[in-house]
Amino acid sequence: MFGYGRNHFTWNGTLRELEGSYTAFCTERSGPSMTTAPPSSSSGLEVLLSALQNAGDVESTLNILSVLDELLSAGTDRRIHYMIRKGGSEALLTALVNTGRSFSPNYTVLLPLLHLLAKVGHRDRRIGVKAEDAGAVRLTLNLLKHNVTHARRAAACLWVIQVFCSSVSTANLIGESHGLDVIYHLIPQYTTTHLHTVKAAVNAFAALLCTKANVCSAVSKGYISGLLRLYEDWHSKDTQHVAVAVRHALLRCLHKITDSAAGRQALLSQGGIKLLYQTTQMCLLSKSLESLVEPSVQLMRKCLPKTPLPLTSDQSAYTFPLPGGPRAVPDMDVAPDDSSEESDDEEAEDNQEEGSRDYDDDLEIDLTKLRLRPDPDRPKELLPQYSRLCPELSHNFEELDLSSEPEDSSTASSSSSDEESVPLNSFSSRRRCSDSSPSSSGKHSAAQLEPRDFHSHSSIFSSSPSFRNMVREAREDPPPVQRGDEEDDDEEGEEESHHSAMIDRLLERHGACIPHHEPKLYRSAATKTKSIPGFSILAFPDFWGHLPPPGHEPMAPRKPNIQRQKVFEDVQRFLNSDDIVNHVVFDLEDDSLQRPSDSLRFFSKFECGNLRKAIQVRRYEYDLILNADANCSQHNQWFYFEVSNMVADIPYRFNVINCEKSNSQFNYGMQPVLYSVREALEGRPQWVRTGTEVCYFRNHFCPVQGRRRTAFYTLTFTITFKHNEDVCYLAYHYPYPYSALKAHLTVLQKSVDPAKLFFQQQILCGTLAGNSCPVVTITACPASRAWKDMHQLRNRPCIVLTGRVHPGESNASWVMKGTLEFLCSSDPVAQSLREAFVFKIIPMLNPDGVINGTNRCDLNGEDLNRQWCKPDPILSPTIYHTKGFLYYLNSTGRTPRVFCDYHGHSRKKNVFLYGCSVKETLWQSGSTVDTVGLKEDPGYRTIPKTLDRIAPAFSFNSCNYLVEKSRSATARVVVWREIGVLRSYTMESTYNGCDQGIYKGLQIGTRELQEMGVKFCQSLLSVTKDMKTLYSKRLISHIDLDHSILDHKSHNCFEDDEPPCVEEIEYSTDCPALKGTDLDSDVNSNMANADEEEEGDKGHRGEKHRVGSTGQSQQSSLKSHLFPHQIRQTSIEALNEKRQTCNAVSLTNGQIFS
Ligand SMILES: [Zn+2]
Repeated sequence: MFGYGRNHFTWNGTLRELEGSYTAFCTERSGPSMTTAPPSSSSGLEVLLSALQNAGDVESTLNILSVLDELLSAGTDRRIHYMIRKGGSEALLTALVNTGRSFSPNYTVLLPLLHLLAKVGHRDRRIGVKAEDAGAVRLTLNLLKHNVTHARRAAACLWVIQVFCSSVSTANLIGESHGLDVIYHLIPQYTTTHLHTVKAAVNAFAALLCTKANVCSAVSKGYISGLLRLYEDWHSKDTQHVAVAVRHALLRCLHKITDSAAGRQALLSQGGIKLLYQTTQMCLLSKSLESLVEPSVQLMRKCLPKTPLPLTSDQSAYTFPLPGGPRAVPDMDVAPDDSSEESDDEEAEDNQEEGSRDYDDDLEIDLTKLRLRPDPDRPKELLPQYSRLCPELSHNFEELDLSSEPEDSSTASSSSSDEESVPLNSFSSRRRCSDSSPSSSGKHSAAQLEPRDFHSHSSIFSSSPSFRNMVREAREDPPPVQRGDEEDDDEEGEEESHHSAMIDRLLERHGACIPHHEPKLYRSAATKTKSIPGFSILAFPDFWGHLPPPGHEPMAPRKPNIQRQKVFEDVQRFLNSDDIVNHVVFDLEDDSLQRPSDSLRFFSKFECGNLRKAIQVRRYEYDLILNADANCSQHNQWFYFEVSNMVADIPYRFNVINCEKSNSQFNYGMQPVLYSVREALEGRPQWVRTGTEVCYFRNHFCPVQGRRRTAFYTLTFTITFKHNEDVCYLAYHYPYPYSALKAHLTVLQKSVDPAKLFFQQQILCGTLAGNSCPVVTITACPASRAWKDMHQLRNRPCIVLTGRVHPGESNASWVMKGTLEFLCSSDPVAQSLREAFVFKIIPMLNPDGVINGTNRCDLNGEDLNRQWCKPDPILSPTIYHTKGFLYYLNSTGRTPRVFCDYHGHSRKKNVFLYGCSVKETLWQSGSTVDTVGLKEDPGYRTIPKTLDRIAPAFSFNSCNYLVEKSRSATARVVVWREIGVLRSYTMESTYNGCDQGIYKGLQIGTRELQEMGVKFCQSLLSVTKDMKTLYSKRLISHIDLDHSILDHKSHNCFEDDEPPCVEEIEYSTDCPALKGTDLDSDVNSNMANADEEEEGDKGHRGEKHRVGSTGQSQQSSLKSHLFPHQIRQTSIEALNEKRQTCNAVSLTNGQIFS
């Protein structure tokens, strides 16, 4: 058509070179009018642009436009951006104003000009402002008004108006000038003619709706109803799907308009949801309509009316009277401070909107704060009290003299618990005396905190009558005489008296041999555990124990479009509310609830349990609401509850509807865990990853009292139970209650040889609720009581390990369990470690939170890992005393060699460490502080490097060593800065699994978590002073600890851990933005056959054009077809001439504007 193959045309040379020949070319053709060229230092492009603004006649202008079009269409966007920098937009706008102002504008020039302006303007963010300055905005709107019956001209004006709207003020200006109404009335009912113009009008209308003022105006004029009816009309009549682009553009308008509350309200009241739902169901039937489904789904999600959670209050069902008044802690809910949104992991504020945060801003760059140790938070005189926590120093090891009889019971002194002899801290002692006033509210209060009488453990199972049947079967007893449920209940007391014995028989017959677990010890520990509601029931899995399942558990594949499907089901609830059961079947605050006999039964009043309410919504579907953290109204994420009365082989859908995190590993292959009592009794006591159709997305629920800024998310999963009438437990992650820790420590204590291993459990302090916070000392007994051996013991460096400050992070406890068991084992590495170090371990910094099923906080509603700077001795006793103990160690010259706080991370895979480094923080922040003179011991990298080699779940690349301001009050940063521990870490373990190493693609289980605890210990060998000795001694065969330094590169793990989810977790606020290429192809294809159609606007369009209008235009090139044939030929010749003069040099397109 143009005498050259588009693909073969390459411009060889630069525009600068073009200058001479082009000026000559213009002079030759147009005479002296083109000679007002700028100074010769300007580039060829500037010459062209200057000429464009000064061109007097049509032919010259067309020539220049044609050359520009050629140049811009041959290359990439880079050329257009170059042109914009050189004043291209202004030049085009000036030319537009000059041409368009005349009484009868010349459309031969105006059309190509508008088209070029649309293409360039679409890539110029300031085009709106420039257009206002040039006076082009109203002019273009006037041109549109004069050409409403002239489709091609109208389309050109509409594209330009659309790009002008990238500026809010310009969009408002157009709105004020009645542009909204003019354009709205250009959108016709379904038609097959002038689809380009129709689409341009709808897109321009959508662009105008980027401002509040225009949206208000559109809503008040009732345009939403109009848009819905238009959408319906196009949907129903466009049976051949030739106008998908127009339909998509209409959805864009609806999206924009519903960014306002009034818009959403209008869409709802006009039946928009129903219309969208129905049309979408039709769209699902045809692949060519796929592009309409997602915008419709997002629109429905956005517009579903906000529904308060069906609760009486957002406040937790558990309240705890704090010392010092009815409410010593500010109500977090009313604080408008959005930084109170906490995140899952260690510490941090990960919960903000993607992209809205600037991590580097959070880095501490104040060298004083990074390097200088602040004054201690308490007087020195308070430190000696902690000497009691170093019992290994005062112990006389008398039993070593009796070493011929290591089993002698007298040795118990070295391994006994001094729990009873050490007083709890003063506050809890006082509390215990005074907590007798019952709470006036109907909620559970601390009044019941006295230890419950657990002796009749029949009640362990009393939650489920079905369990009793199961137990009878297991006992192989004859079934009881047929009787009703009520009678059954009456008999309960009687039955209970036999229960202990029965449980014992059951354990005998069916109990699995679970290492380091003794059900009776667990039961006895649980009787001493104090909870707010006064738990008297044990969860079966915690009592019975569990083993890891035999095989690996791969991450669950995500079903395509699963979220969409779930959203449809949720929308149906709104549309067909009559089909919804809506029956509350469990309420933590109402025991007397009547429930249908065929519904599932739920229960959560046991340690770590936190289901607050269960509502049956459909026959096999339940909404679940989690209890907020005690004394608080938020932090829902962790869950643990019992479910029973199920029918086998039926898929039940569960929706946890008040999750708070903005994303979850549930979208990336993670499944909840399930424990079946029947399976346990059949010899498979296992928590297994289970659930299909798992996904996590933002829903339409809101808090009861409308706390601002709170969005809720639904975790939905489907479970098909294996057995009828089973009793099952479902949890976010493998539970690890406080009583389990107590029992475990007792088991460990019994397991060690006191002649070799010094193991002492003590109480760090009492908690708010009067539980004790254990601290464990583990080290090797000295070889003898000789001075030399005792001296070596007294000079062993300390390692301090803490964990579970965040109750929802039960994975941290499993890692800790692995650590404790390893350190007490006879493994030679463990033996070496005990000889090298004294381990001080506080396995659970937040017992009260763990017991009461909170996710994040302690009973005072605060995140304990934000209290380290100045912990309150009354409100945060465990942190206060841990820090005090660390101060004490520091003051006696025993600053820990390593400190590590164990956590769980819900948004990342693998296990990794956070540490602290001044240099890395300064580098990362781009600080100008000169780090050359800064001395820093690189030893903080030794442990992560070692772990990277020996721990399969560990990922060195996820570690970082940055000190953030937002984490300045966390254990890691405070212990590093204030206690001076170089190797101060947070260890983060995934809830999901690994994406590297031998566990790649697998979900993590308790086995792997415990293994991580072992590996962490092993890595400590790398920081022993006497590595060489140990190494040669006996370790070489045990762990692969070679000292070749692998050159790992630190890596900023702030980057998002996962690729974007395939489906939007949040509501998207917009349809996908229109791309520049879309607009280009619209502009270009509108001009296809321009020559033939010049006067044919009112005529019919051929089939060829209709193909273009579906948005599947064949015109992929940027090149317009808007210039008269002659002009195009001439400019091509000019360019070709130039090409021949330098055809020896082949330059790429990108270099053309050098
Ligand atoms: Zn944490």
